Amino acid sequence: MRIILLGPPGAGKGTQAEFLSEYLNIPRISTGDMLRAAVHDDTNTIGHAVRTIMAEGRLVPDELMIQLIEDRIQNEDCRKGFLLDGFPRTLFQAEALEKSGIAIDKVIQIYVPDSEIIQRLSGRRIHEPSGRIYHIKNNPPKKDELDDITHEPLIQREDDKEETIKKRLQVYHHQTEPLIQWFQQYNYSLVRVEGVGKVDKIQENIRSVL
Ligand code: AMP
Repeated sequence: MRIILLGPPGAGKGTQAEFLSEYLNIPRISTGDMLRAAVHDDTNTIGHAVRTIMAEGRLVPDELMIQLIEDRIQNEDCRKGFLLDGFPRTLFQAEALEKSGIAIDKVIQIYVPDSEIIQRLSGRRIHEPSGRIYHIKNNPPKKDELDDITHEPLIQREDDKEETIKKRLQVYHHQTEPLIQWFQQYNYSLVRVEGVGKVDKIQENIRSVL
């Protein structure tokens, strides 16, 4: 199974990708996570190059992203399939994937309106070492701004500040949303799932379209 998860930032792609990866026993490839890991590693030259771009909510250059993905999917663990979370994000990236001859079985578009996304992302807090995610209203930690398990401080992702969220949404609508038509035009099997509601229900909907 080779799957692409498409949707705006804050649509819940990460949460659904984790579930799907376990359910289908295929690796989740999150380009956002890969880039954040590079930024955290001071010796990583890619990290240096993309830090500001990411903090400003802009897209990293296509060539770099394509190389990153091409290298990653050569790995042994991708032989039985993979789940792309955050790639492709531009027409150029989609075309590169198409040219590489890798057949995609399903594109799952998670749809969430902008107003909901701003509310979700601006309240999101993260425990960085573990990746645990909280929300100040919908899923608050037991103690304000502290992780429930380690009691270490939570952080707000630099790009989860309201101004940057708006920028990321603008980038999504201009550069990534046109992919929906492109996938249709090239006869990809594209399904749309509503991304608002209970996580379990959304999971069930995704399972039923697979
Ligand atoms: P995400 O965690 O998927 O929201 O990604 C965080 C940031 O990483 C994005 O705002 C971009 O700056 C960068 N990024 C992730 N994936 C891509 C991609 N496929 N193309 C360009 N930039 C990307």
